[in-house]
This record gives sequence, structure tokens and C-alpha cells, in this order.
Amino acid sequence: MSGKRHHVYIAIGLIMGAAAGVAADWIAGPAESGPAAVSTQPSEAPGASLREGLHWFTYNVTDSVGKVFLRLIFMVVVPLVFCALTLGVVEIGDIRRLGRIGVRTLGYTLVLSSIAVILGVSLVNFFRPGESLPPEQRDALRAQYSGNAAQAVEHAKKAKSVRDTLLDIIPENPLQEMVGALDGSAKGGGMLAVMFFALVFGAAITLIPNERARPLVDCIQAVFDVCMVVIGMAMRIAPVAVACLVFSVTARVGADVLKMLLGFALTALAGMAVQIGVIYPLMLKTLGRTSPGRFFRDISDVMVTAFATSSSNATLPTSLRCAEQDLKLPKEIGHFVLTVGATGNQNGTALYEGVVVLFLAQVFGVELSFAQQLMVVLMSVLAGVGTAGVPGGSLPLIAVVCSSVGVPADGIGIILGIDRILDMVRTVLNVVGDLVLAVCVSKGVRPAPAPAM
Ligand code: ASP
Repeated sequence: MSGKRHHVYIAIGLIMGAAAGVAADWIAGPAESGPAAVSTQPSEAPGASLREGLHWFTYNVTDSVGKVFLRLIFMVVVPLVFCALTLGVVEIGDIRRLGRIGVRTLGYTLVLSSIAVILGVSLVNFFRPGESLPPEQRDALRAQYSGNAAQAVEHAKKAKSVRDTLLDIIPENPLQEMVGALDGSAKGGGMLAVMFFALVFGAAITLIPNERARPLVDCIQAVFDVCMVVIGMAMRIAPVAVACLVFSVTARVGADVLKMLLGFALTALAGMAVQIGVIYPLMLKTLGRTSPGRFFRDISDVMVTAFATSSSNATLPTSLRCAEQDLKLPKEIGHFVLTVGATGNQNGTALYEGVVVLFLAQVFGVELSFAQQLMVVLMSVLAGVGTAGVPGGSLPLIAVVCSSVGVPADGIGIILGIDRILDMVRTVLNVVGDLVLAVCVSKGVRPAPAPAM
């Protein structure tokens, strides 16, 4: 999704946007009190005061550039999610052939991802980084996303009964759910129902004869590839979009938003630290019967590669070599678990998705009930399965989870500036999780007999 130095340009965009935004806010002086002062409604002319001029500029110029970027991503979200999950299940369908290995891989993946998301969601509930802004700044930020935020609060209030929520997961009309999946206008379960449809569709594909299934799978794979190309195009303008989005936010809210973002980043990093420092070693010791110290020493190359590339896919060759040569795992288990895990087992991503959605809900004042938070956990686990192992692969899925619980998806513009840095860390978690999984799965499974000469 990016060139070699792309992340450097994004970081430069972040710093320039933030510095220019804070400076512009300072030069424009304090906003007159009252909601009008923070209004972001369309204006025909720049207005008389410096503050009004700045509003005009952010609304018409920087917000618009940022929206171009976000819309390029959103426009492929629905086909991308459908294809990614269907293909994931088709791949897992091969698991049946692998019997115990397949079932264990699937089971441990769900356990590891669920622990990761619950951890992240609990930390956001505890530290509440999205509520750290002073009230007037928070109003300014909410005003920036006014239409969406108001809609979101309404959406969250319309909490359904548990019975309806569960029933709505099964779509009556998947196409209708796809149409309304992102703006909350779906009649049933929205994106979750689309995900359910993709899972059933993928499972059914594995049950028809291979020669009939192949063309369909190839076609779905091609649609998926095309979506990834579109997202790659969007990522090309990411440095400029990040600069614009960060400028818009800081110019309206001032430097306080940067402090809030620091709180968000630290919360996400704390969750990731617990996952890698406590949960993984526990899994290795109990299920993998392996020394965590030695394990981490053996995989240091993989961690560095994941950190540098922000891509599970790009790290796969290094992980495969490490599994075979350093961890001495049976070849067929290493290959299977690591290949499926590169897209299917993304604990760091799942944790991050949960953290972002809850954080944005706090920023926009969207109260999420316990059932809705459970929904975030479930969707983040599924999103972890459907996320492509490339830099920024989780952004479209974050939009999906946000809109499914009524949090404005545009809000990802707020975290976009620091996303790339956190992407480096969560990718490390993703690939380490795959190797932990491979170690645990390989325990107790006898290696395949060597082929006869
Ligand atoms: N960059 C991550 C990976 O490749 C995916 C993401 O969370 O954006 O594993």
C-alpha cells in the first residue's frame, strides 16, 4: 500500500499539519463563546475575523482534502469486507483436510484475538482517553463532525433488544444490508449481517466441487485485489490528507487534541504491551511448553521486520524461515499456521480496532451499552480475521466497526496522523501472535512422516 519512504512522508505530514494547525489556532485567537464560534457549516465567504477565516479555510479546504482520502477508502469497504471474509473461510475450509491442526489453529486464533480486544476495550474504559479534552474543545471537535456525531448519538440510543440484535445478525436481504452498512440505515444487523453472509457464503463454497468453486473464488479474489489497489491509491495521498486532517482538528481545538491523542496512543500501547508481555508468554508456557525468553530471542529478526514494514504479508517469508530454522517447528504446521495467520490471526489489529472505536465513542459522547461493547468485541475479532496484512490494512475495517455501533466513521481522521506509528507496533503483535500460535499448535501434533525415497 505504500512506497519505501511513505511512512516518513506521513510522519512529516503529521508534524507539519499539527504545527501549522496549532499556530493557526494561536494566531486566530480565542473563539468567541457559543456554538456559533465553533460552527463548521458551509460558508460562502471567508468572513470578517481571523477565526471566521480559519473556519472557512478548514471547512472548505483541509476538511475537503481529508474527506477525499476517507471516501476513497470507504467506497471499497463493503466489497472488501465481503471478499476478505469469504476468502478467509474458503482458506479455512482447507482446514478440514488438516483436521486437528486446523481446528486448533481456528480455536487459538479466536481465543488470542478475543483476549486482545477485551484487554484493549477494558483499558479504554478504565483510562477514558477520549474524555480528556476540556469541555469547550470537546464541543468544537464534536461540532466538526456535527451531523455524524448527532446521528451517532441517536443511533446509539436506539439500542435493540438482545433477541433482535442476535436475529438481525442473519440478514433477510444481504444486499439491503450492504447498501445501509456504513450509514446506519440498514434494516437489520448492517455490517455484522454482511459479515455473517460472507461467512456462510464462504463455507458453502467449500462444499461444492472444486472445479465449480474455483472460478468463483478467483473472481472474488480479483475483486479483493482491485479493492486493495483502490486503497493503495488512497494511501498515496495519505501524507497530504494526514497533514490536512490534523490541521483541521488542531486549528479548531488547539494543542489539547494532541495531548488527547497521546493518551489514546499510550492506552493502545499499554494493551499491546500486556498482550505481548503477559498473554503470549502465558500461552507459550502453558500450551506451547516453550521458554518465552528463548522464543523471543529466536524471533528477534521477525519482530524487527514487522516493525519496519508494518506488514504481516511482507514479514511472512522471514517468519517462515524463523519457524523452520530457529524455532524448529514441523514444516507443514509452520507453513499452514503462518500463512493463514498472516491475514487471519491479527491480535494486535483486533485490539487496536476495539481501542479506536471506544476511544472515538468517548470523543463524540456516544454512550455504548454493555451489549454494544460486546458487539465491538465480536466485530473487532471478525475484523481481525478480515484485515489485509498490509500497512493501514485495518483502516477500512475500523470504519466498519465504528458505523456498526453508531460512532462516526469519519472520526478516524482524528487518529490517522498517529496510525502509522501504532501500525508498526500492532504488526509486531500480529506476527508474533502467528508464531505463538504455530508453537502452541505444533505441540502434541506428530510431524508428518518423511516422504519415501
Ligand atoms: N499493518 C497490519 C498488518 O499488516 C494490519 C493493520 O492493522 O493495519 O498486520
